[in-house]
Amino acid sequence: MLCLTALWLNTKIMNPNYAILFEPVPIGPVIAPNRFYQVPHASGMTESNPRVRAAFRATKAEGGWGVVSTGAVSTHPSCDDSPLPFARLWDENDIRSHALATEAIHAHGALAAIELWHGGGAVMNRTSRIAPYSPSGIPWSATHVGFMGQLKPRIMTGDDIQDVIRWQVAAAVRARRAGYDVIYVYAGMGYLGYEFLLPEYNLRTDAYGGSLENRTRFVKELIESTKEAVGDTCAVALRISLEELRARPSENNESEAHELVSLLSDLPDLWDVKMDSSPTDCGASRFRAEGSHEPVIDFVKKLTTRPVVGVGRFTSPDTMVSQVKRGILDLIGGARPSIADPFLPAKIKAGKENEIRECIGCNICIASWHDGVPVRCTQNATVGEEWRKNWHPEKFPRLGSDDKILIVGAGPAGLEAGLIAAKRGYQVTIADAEKTLGGRLVFESSLPGLSEWGRVADYRLYALQAMVNVEIYPDNRLNAEEILELEQERIVIATGASWTNMLYSSLEIPLGSLDGEAVFTPDDLSKGNLPNGRVLVYDFDNYYLGGVLAEFLARKGLDVSYATPAGHASAWTIMTNEQPFVHQVLHEHNVGILTSMLLKTFQPGALVLENIFTGATQNLEIDSVVIVGQRMPRDELFHALLARKDEFSDAGIKSVDRIGDCLAPGALVHAVYSGHEYGRQLDEPELSETYLRDIPIADIDPGPAISN
Ligand code: ADP
Ligand code: SF4
Repeated sequence: MLCLTALWLNTKIMNPNYAILFEPVPIGPVIAPNRFYQVPHASGMTESNPRVRAAFRATKAEGGWGVVSTGAVSTHPSCDDSPLPFARLWDENDIRSHALATEAIHAHGALAAIELWHGGGAVMNRTSRIAPYSPSGIPWSATHVGFMGQLKPRIMTGDDIQDVIRWQVAAAVRARRAGYDVIYVYAGMGYLGYEFLLPEYNLRTDAYGGSLENRTRFVKELIESTKEAVGDTCAVALRISLEELRARPSENNESEAHELVSLLSDLPDLWDVKMDSSPTDCGASRFRAEGSHEPVIDFVKKLTTRPVVGVGRFTSPDTMVSQVKRGILDLIGGARPSIADPFLPAKIKAGKENEIRECIGCNICIASWHDGVPVRCTQNATVGEEWRKNWHPEKFPRLGSDDKILIVGAGPAGLEAGLIAAKRGYQVTIADAEKTLGGRLVFESSLPGLSEWGRVADYRLYALQAMVNVEIYPDNRLNAEEILELEQERIVIATGASWTNMLYSSLEIPLGSLDGEAVFTPDDLSKGNLPNGRVLVYDFDNYYLGGVLAEFLARKGLDVSYATPAGHASAWTIMTNEQPFVHQVLHEHNVGILTSMLLKTFQPGALVLENIFTGATQNLEIDSVVIVGQRMPRDELFHALLARKDEFSDAGIKSVDRIGDCLAPGALVHAVYSGHEYGRQLDEPELSETYLRDIPIADIDPGPAISN
């Protein structure tokens, strides 16, 4: 079996086991050309960036996704999720803007799908100032910090219900005019359709409340009306969350989810089934494995003859085939895998599945949505730059000179810079001080839950090792003297950053360092130098590492506490959907969490914390401290070289640049982007730090926001 696999890979012929993934699938009146279905996911691009959006979606169609969907598209100003960067289909200008995308998607033979959406009581209508809509006046997840707002939604009248259905229909008609082939009704993730399904949110006593059949009526009418309006030429899909419903007993069926699917069975042309909230639906790999939705959605196909699509961060074609063969899914849904590698289907078809740039489940893409900007991806630096910078994920400009490139440092930045330069045809040499390549990932991907992050290094090393114009030298710490002698024209310093033991005051003013043998940084831990006794992890980096190290040390049997000036453990991971699970995992490992605290003083055995608001102090018996705080560039080599600038021309050196953490310490996504930018723009100085600026389409004059 192994030999056969090797043969297919070498000869670049599709593994026949995967042929099933390329079968066409009828969806109502349209036909998906294969089973690769890019399900709706946010792009953050909106109608303000129609060309950026069209190119982003079209690249996936080019890469072989048979269906390419929008993210959620508001049907009406009463669904206004600002300040989040949501999309709209409210008027003529929006039709033109969407048509750019559908035309570009169709040009590659894919179907275009649109997720029409009404946010109900989960949106605050901060811009439109319309009182939000809900079944019974209960805002979605009022306790959740991400949804906090001071406006409670209206209780919809019967006329309000008919209005929302009318707006869906009007938007569906516009969507067909914009060229969409699949049109969604959305009943998931706390939005209006879903709010009708749950009795805690739907307290109505009319025909839309009470029994499950009544609670389903609104969604049913949305589907029926949409089908009546556009169902002759477009497929009408239902996207629905089933996690909570599956957990609810039903008098007539195994669960309310079973009962609901039986009730609607063949009404939608397609079932798009998912989890209930972003943290479980789009779970980070640290807490959710590939295919984690299956126990919730595995029954749907048994209760409908319509095709079913679902997600699960699928990157392995074997897993995809298994989903189809075992009767779980007809169409393999992908959101993050399609962002990380838009060419995933094409690579499987070409027998190059080991060249897939697999999603690592870090959820930086989600964080971009929460940041209110176009999507960014750790694995794929070209995302969002397809039109702005003319960056294609698989095509690269030819080299601009015969210059030889020396990259010092084989972390994410150095590997990406080397790979892109090598793909362009440059002669690339990469040297790293360590025996194992991958930079910070060597240690970090060994920590609890982070193994998939190792794919960032693995993907690049795999590709680099196969290239004849690349030489890689591990275990080679270089100094300025050696570099001057190496006869390389372009020097790239990618030597990363170091964690410091710097502290801050409550006014965010650096207070100097905390020294001593019992004070550790993540760099110490990465070298195997571990703390002893009762340990406090003091985290003001606020991303994943402080929480992960606390878990790591607790798993080793140490007595660990965690303190932070922030209001939650790993506070920034709210952006990546991880934060609730960070608290859970630390709780499971008996790690006490102390929030709103500054580290005031420490000597082994005695540590003092101070509340950032009240100044009240708390004494703890702590033997060792791990500070996860400020990082500083490891840029001594860069400056040592600059100090010898006079010798560059004799040494043949044309440029010395620093990239990645050595330039500006950040997350993996920043390091990869920095490396990519270097490789892409080498010898193309006019491109440096510039991009095309998109503008909204405005064929018609400004007019009423509500056009129907
Ligand atoms: P980034 O995230 O910017 O890629 P990393 O810290 O992950 O940065 O990787 C930096 C890499 O640079 C590490 O693997 C480290 O061993 C290597 N390195 C640091 N200094 C030198 C040096 N003088 N010579 C060779 N390699 C170095
Ligand atoms: Fe996957 Fe991370 Fe890229 Fe999102 S940002 S698609 S989770 S690799």
